[in-house]
Amino acid sequence: MKLLKKVRFLKIPLKPLFLISLILFTSHSSASDSTIEVTDIRFWSYPDYTRIVINLSENTEFIKNRLSSPDRLYFDIKNSRINKETQRNILIDNGMLKGVRAGQFSDSTVRVVLDLEKIRDYKVFSLEDPIRIIIDVYGPIKFSAKKRIVLDPGHGGHDPGAVGPNKLYEKDVVLDIALKLRKILSEIPNLEIFLTRDRDIYIPLEERTAIANSKNADLFVSIHANASTRRDAKGIETYLLNWTNDEEAMKVAARENQISLKKMKKMHKEIDVLEIIKSDLNRENKRDESIKLANYVQKSMVNDLDKNYSHIVDHGVKQALFYVLMGAQMPSVLVEVSFISNPVEEKLLSRENYRGDLAKSIASGINKYMTLMPEGQTIADTRKAIDPRD
Ligand SMILES: [Zn+2]
Repeated sequence: MKLLKKVRFLKIPLKPLFLISLILFTSHSSASDSTIEVTDIRFWSYPDYTRIVINLSENTEFIKNRLSSPDRLYFDIKNSRINKETQRNILIDNGMLKGVRAGQFSDSTVRVVLDLEKIRDYKVFSLEDPIRIIIDVYGPIKFSAKKRIVLDPGHGGHDPGAVGPNKLYEKDVVLDIALKLRKILSEIPNLEIFLTRDRDIYIPLEERTAIANSKNADLFVSIHANASTRRDAKGIETYLLNWTNDEEAMKVAARENQISLKKMKKMHKEIDVLEIIKSDLNRENKRDESIKLANYVQKSMVNDLDKNYSHIVDHGVKQALFYVLMGAQMPSVLVEVSFISNPVEEKLLSRENYRGDLAKSIASGINKYMTLMPEGQTIADTRKAIDPRD
């Protein structure tokens, strides 16, 4: 913590009417003794909590009081002198406190003023060895920040994606699923939903992850429909970004990346690509979280659809090098909801009900993942960081 060494002597008029408390130490010096020194003022600043510690050479009485316009707390320390070494003007500026000022208020009184910004509460107590006054200031209650999800309906505009035997376009199917999914997820409190596109426009693959990163999203879910040269290929699979040796997975990624399978295979050996992916996967526990998210979404889709439709095929969670997942800073997955190249699944995908059920099942998978997602470590960290001896 950086303390500013600006020194300013302060005289603040005392308003006895506002005195609200008088705290006595168990053993204090006589009233005439002015040898007690304020030897140090320190602070620790955390996101919603600040601790200020005033060190004294000996026990003494002090008065605390809170005044408004401007909002401030002051402490009059009796029979004391401020030590030459003590910081007299400390800038904090953390949203709770503007700073702390200290000065010789009268011959026998040191006044310490806490200039407040916005606080919820404060607590004052004292400790011995060394003798010190502890002031804990709590910031306003922060409602848990909303989790942000970016949904990415694949393709769009001049890029139709995969086209079914009856000319159903992947871009239209996945946009509709994403819009339905947004509607469902928006009803869950504390979730904020963004779409990379909400109409039939083309967005380059690299821009989609950039959107998620710029929104500081907690999750990124790219939605696609599968295709294969084998007309009987059908089923549901969910992908995360990683190397793969699986030829089928490589084919899916090649198609979604709009590159040839040959190029796709070559990509596995390119140093740049490997570096990007390695750094992506190493980011905190992004890979583990992506696996978890992929599993929740995959299981949810398969189990929920299995209740209403026959012959739902579960291809499970897979990995491949998808351009659209590269560089995403958050857990991210790509779902292949069904095979648009399969006439039966194309028919299903053309139905409002099936798309609605898909959206519902993806939402329930995301929701399950979100409910189990660990909260920020702020509280735990704060507690750990405070020295219990202070
Ligand atoms: Zn696609």
